[in-house]
Parts: sequence; structure tokens; C-alpha cells
Amino acid sequence: MPVALSPALRSALAERIRYYHELGIYDFYRRETHTPEAGESAPAAIEDVNPISTQPELREQMPARKSAAVATAIDENIFEVLTPKPEHNASNPAAALKLIREDLGDCTRCKLHKQGRKQIVFGVGNPCADLMFVGEGPGADEDAQGEPFVGRAGQLLNNMIKAMGLRREDVYIANVVKCRPPGNRTPERDECDTCSPFLMRQIAVIKPKIVVALGAVAAKNLLAMSASMAELRGRFYDFMPAGARSSDPEWPGAKLAVTYHPAFLLRDPRQKGEAWKDLQMVMKFLGLKPQQKPE
Ligand code: SF4
Repeated sequence: MPVALSPALRSALAERIRYYHELGIYDFYRRETHTPEAGESAPAAIEDVNPISTQPELREQMPARKSAAVATAIDENIFEVLTPKPEHNASNPAAALKLIREDLGDCTRCKLHKQGRKQIVFGVGNPCADLMFVGEGPGADEDAQGEPFVGRAGQLLNNMIKAMGLRREDVYIANVVKCRPPGNRTPERDECDTCSPFLMRQIAVIKPKIVVALGAVAAKNLLAMSASMAELRGRFYDFMPAGARSSDPEWPGAKLAVTYHPAFLLRDPRQKGEAWKDLQMVMKFLGLKPQQKPE
């Protein structure tokens, strides 16, 4: 039976949804609720009828918003707040990517914005690419030029792409985080969690046939699983970015393959043969004929 929400609760929910939109999160799922069995008492939290004043999460993360929501208590229409993602009305993938970039803005959503980044490195390439490469995060060269994979590791990635019989402009290249972690450290969990919804939206717009995760950080974030590179490599995973419609008649999702990050291959060139095996698996799926083994 539908439950009428109080104006204060509606306002607080609307505010919460706007907060998630600012984070780039547009999709919400209903978690299954536990129905108490006969004789089982309801959890104490159910008796808590004022979520605004009792949830520590709201208190800690949204102090200004919380107080605004409590003070105004307007009878808001939550369904008007539950707007689709901006890119949903775009006429083509290029326009949709532009809208996602605009939504990202001069992003300050995670702490990487104040740790020395020069600019946001959004992504580059063909908006309709069949093949997409996802790395970890920008390095110094990428931060300076505003484009992913332009340094020495980028040169090696270019060679790998060429060896597959493709050009860099045929594929799309992006990273899990869009701002350079200081000292090229590994991006932290909260930074990946905050930034990756935008990557998911990019993937959902591009609709590639294959996503290649470059390195363990990209693989673990895209697959939401923790395993060694040895366990992750050598097979395809079915991949549907969070928030994309699994019933989309135009796109059944991508295959995801994992290979070594080019920066790792520069440090340990003996693994290039293994990476080449991964790329050959991808080429076979895409029907590509290899030109040459990458140097
Ligand atoms: S890494 Fe991503 S979430 Fe963090 S500030 Fe940069 S663009 Fe925003």
C-alpha cells in the first residue's frame, strides 16, 4: 500500500537525490526489505521516524544541506527531482559525451582536485568506438596536456593499438579517475568510487563491443572484484556499466578483458608477450588481423 510521506521527509529525499546528481549518480535501486516473521520483533531502526536527525551519514556529509532541508520543509515532488541523466536526450554519442563533461564541470567532488592537478583529463577518441581502453589515472604528461596516455606509456599504448591494426583515433581512451594523483600514487578507494560514475556514463554512451582494463586498478574498479592479475587476465567478462539499461535493444553490454598497464610493461618488458596474447584475444573477438607485434 502506498505510504504518504511528510513534506519534511519528501524535501529531505529530494535534497538527497540532488546531492547524488552532483556526484554524477543518477540511478537508484530499491533494496529488498526484510519482512519480520511472525513473532520476530521489528528492528529498532524502523521505529526511528526522523531520518534527518538520526542518520550519522547525513550529519557528517551534508551538514548545510541537512539544515536547509529541515528548515524549508517544502512539499517537493520527488519524481521531478528524479530526472534522467543529461545525456539521455543527446542526439548522438559525441553530444552525449559533451554533456557528461559539462556535468563534471570544474569538479571538486573528491580530494584529488586540491592535490596539484592542472586539469581534468576526461577521455579522448572515437565516441562510437568498438574498443575502449581504461587505465588508472592521469600521470604528469597527461595532466599537462589534458589527454590520457600521452607520455611514454601512451606511446606504448599507441604501438599496441597500431599492432592491432587500428589507429588511436579509432578507439576511446579514459581512466578510472580523471585527476592526477600526487606523485603518481595509486588512486584511493574513495577517489575511484567518486569519479567512476562518470566513466560508467561514458562507457554507456559509447557502447563499445570490448573494454580493455589496463592494469589491476582499472580491472578491479570496473569488475568490482579483487583478484591478482594472473587470475583476472586471459578471459572475457560480461560487462554492463552501473546505471546502464541491461535491456537496451541497441547494446547488450560489452566484453571486458584485462591486460597489463603499459607503464608496467615499460618497467618489465618481459611481460609484453603476455599482453600481446591478451590483445590477440581481443582482436579475434573483433575480427581484426594483427599487423605486427608491438615493440
Ligand atoms: S578525480 Fe574525478 S571526482 Fe575527483 S576531482 Fe577529479 S574529476 Fe572530480
